[in-house]
Amino acid sequence: MKTLVTDSLEKAVELLSKGELVAIPTETVYGLAADALNETAVKKIFEAKGRPSDNPLIVHISEIEEIIPLIKNFPSMAQKIAQKFWPGPLTMILKKSDLIPEIVTAGLDSVAIRLPSMPVTRELIKKFGHPLAAPSANLSGRPSPTSYRHVLDDLDGKIAAILKSEDCSVGVESTVIDLTSTPVHLLRPGKITAEEISDFIEEKVIIDKSVDHFVSDLKEVRSPGVKYKHYSPKTKVVLVKSSSKKFANFVNSNPDCVAVAFDEDSKYINTEFVSYGSESSQNDQLRLLFDSLRKIDNFNKKIAYVRLAPNLNLAVFNRLLRASAFNVIDDL
Ligand code: AMP
Ligand code: MG
Repeated sequence: MKTLVTDSLEKAVELLSKGELVAIPTETVYGLAADALNETAVKKIFEAKGRPSDNPLIVHISEIEEIIPLIKNFPSMAQKIAQKFWPGPLTMILKKSDLIPEIVTAGLDSVAIRLPSMPVTRELIKKFGHPLAAPSANLSGRPSPTSYRHVLDDLDGKIAAILKSEDCSVGVESTVIDLTSTPVHLLRPGKITAEEISDFIEEKVIIDKSVDHFVSDLKEVRSPGVKYKHYSPKTKVVLVKSSSKKFANFVNSNPDCVAVAFDEDSKYINTEFVSYGSESSQNDQLRLLFDSLRKIDNFNKKIAYVRLAPNLNLAVFNRLLRASAFNVIDDL
């Protein structure tokens, strides 16, 4: 199949209406979209990504009201959170209605829903007239795509089209919260933090153990995606908790590695180096993380060492833990 790269919303709508897959920009990462109400189309997402069929998808809408037919009921807490954080990088898990095909939710009785803030995404969903099921538009296990070029690298020839737009402004996937029971649980950290949500609802938000711990007992896993290897370059990744200078000495004495660290570290490092932003800007780190992980493979080295700073953003730490398969050196 030839993958069309286009900026035409009309073309994207035409292909989605035919049950084809279109990679779409959002403020978080590029998504691989299909008509959420068309079972055959959604099946193609799992095939193109090589995604395990027990890992459910996020459903994207363009206005808050569009959630009503997709869920059993809209609890007042969820309404309040939607009013505050939508459109934006937050996904809510609620009890699903019968309208959502089982394949979307991997057989679960709940569905993950998000209202993205990027204008082109909302316009596309509006023009299409149905919700879009869309996981990240990468091959399963690879770093999520934050530019249309990343999508091409992974899915060229496997999907009908890419709706080309600017790079993603947030750069990591949405925060996922589970509202099917109380208290609210955070299943995946993103730009919107547990603290922000908790301050707003004036209630505790429990951060799921899997966010920053390895969970070996699958019965304890509330979000199926947590079970799988994620965000990995082909090169082995090891995280290193250390000061800038110690880290530089360590990587400089190791000829077969790539150093992944902050802009401020570059002056000490004289081996292959990839920056994931300024140490002082969490927004930079979120935005650049996946592109940095993809760059690692360009160097053809045996190993990539990533420096962890003490106050690292939880969403960045969560993705790095998975990229490294929880391989962390605590001190040098
Ligand atoms: P992605 O589509 O790559 O952004 O991944 C979506 C994430 O949301 C995965 O980690 C899924 O496991 C999670 N997810 C989607 N639907 C549900 C649900 N109904 N219950 C729990 N987690 C969900
Ligand atoms: Mg993903």
